[in-house]
Amino acid sequence: MDLKKYQSQLNNIQTPCYVYDLNLLEQTLLACKNAADKYNFEVHYALKANVNPAILAAIQAKNFGADCVSGNEVKAAINAGFSKDKVVFAGVGKTDQEINEALALDIFCFNVESLQEIEIINELAHAQNKIAKIALRLNPNVNANTHHYITTGLSENKFGINFWELEKVIDLIKISPNIDLIGLHFHVGSQINDLQVFKNLCAKVNEFTAWFDARQIPLKVLNLGGGLGIDYYHPTTNNLVNFEAYFAIFNQFIVRKPGQEIHFELGRSLVGAIGALLSRVVYIKEGIQTNFAILDAGMTDLLRPALYQAYHKIENLSKQHESISKKYDVVGPICESSDCFGKAVELPITSRGDLMVIYSTGAYGEVMSSNYNLREKAKVLLLQ
Ligand SMILES: *Cc1c(COP(=O)(O)O)cnc(C)c1O
Repeated sequence: MDLKKYQSQLNNIQTPCYVYDLNLLEQTLLACKNAADKYNFEVHYALKANVNPAILAAIQAKNFGADCVSGNEVKAAINAGFSKDKVVFAGVGKTDQEINEALALDIFCFNVESLQEIEIINELAHAQNKIAKIALRLNPNVNANTHHYITTGLSENKFGINFWELEKVIDLIKISPNIDLIGLHFHVGSQINDLQVFKNLCAKVNEFTAWFDARQIPLKVLNLGGGLGIDYYHPTTNNLVNFEAYFAIFNQFIVRKPGQEIHFELGRSLVGAIGALLSRVVYIKEGIQTNFAILDAGMTDLLRPALYQAYHKIENLSKQHESISKKYDVVGPICESSDCFGKAVELPITSRGDLMVIYSTGAYGEVMSSNYNLREKAKVLLLQ
């Protein structure tokens, strides 16, 4: 994201404020769409990354589907205009109410994560006189190798259905008249920049589909999840993800049946680079070893650094021509030691009132904000 383009819109900006570059979003969506269309792949946007209405509208207008992980996300997707035939609902703990509402909305598919969930969806669908389409979320770490270390790891993983449960799952589906099994679902993780991981995923997916082939169970849809990463280190120079390379891997390594649909669920790679958090320095505190730049934004606005020590590039927009630099711990005002955006960040000599930017906050930024310490939520400005 290049903020210089939008300099005039940033004068007198009220902080803290999330800014979203809608031109870069448009470019990103087109790049993704073009790369996916080449192989007839369908992409669903993972709403949990960012639910700003303008962003949802732009994504929906490009005909993406929606990947939701709560009942409210399902409703938000439908309200934003996403076609119900392209809404999928994943999550390990869907409540009866959430399932009922999604059934009533006739969504495309439930990605189910346990045996018991299949029983409940069947019951609730029966009561509504509906057939629920489901995809099984499988845990791709599993293979026929049942080394006890691997087994221990799997029993602790809350996501997905494990390989050793599959026979039972299939038996259950056979006696569940209101369940229609349409495919398989996988999601290996997030912020993955090593494409080898996706190549390994393909190999696992092929093992699973072979298992279903052997039992003559047709799979109309393979949903291969999301997880494609962005470049947090070069947010201004490398802000377009290489979708071409990503989809090419799947095209090359997935064994695809004629007519089989291949779906993806991308979140971060579609919106991560289009956002930045702007904040002003409230105080500078000189220390013996460290200087602190205390911002008006905190972990309540952007949780990722505190939650998983995530890196975000930080710059001082007010001092772009200043040549002398110093190291600062860039922190927020919240009463928690983890409320720190960056340690020993090299910045030009920074003063009270300077406008600071924390880059790459378009995904898992605003959506994770809270009112802790009774703080107001950050403002939002759309740049276009
Ligand atoms: C979070 C999530 C995604 C999106 O992940 P990204 O890393 O943002 O692409 C996709 N599918 C499921 C099931 C998820 O939970």
